[in-house]
Amino acid sequence: MDEILGQVLRNAVWERLDVLTELANRADAPSLLAVARSELPRLTEGWRTLLSAHDADEKGNCPECSSRWRPCKAPCTVWRSAYEHLVSGALAPRPARHLRPAHALREVAPVP
Ligand SMILES: [Zn+2]
Repeated sequence: MDEILGQVLRNAVWERLDVLTELANRADAPSLLAVARSELPRLTEGWRTLLSAHDADEKGNCPECSSRWRPCKAPCTVWRSAYEHLVSGALAPRPARHLRPAHALREVAPVP
């Protein structure tokens, strides 16, 4: 990929991220819901594709981040970034019940 094409690609991705950020900050609820329904599956699929490419090989190395002379142990920086942004960041699910403080637990009505 030549330098100009690389710059065009990077600019397009940055602009797309800016648009999504702007929508998240300013869109009304119905618009936000529509964007979430269309964009979240694309984003999750993108992460899946990216992470699959960075899955450990049979030697425990990332095939994308390793070179012939310099292996890179998995999990590589891509996986660590995914964990940081998806699990320990804002999208993190609530901690498991056994990890929550007792005062945060409330009784749940039994399912009939
Ligand atoms: Zn990698």
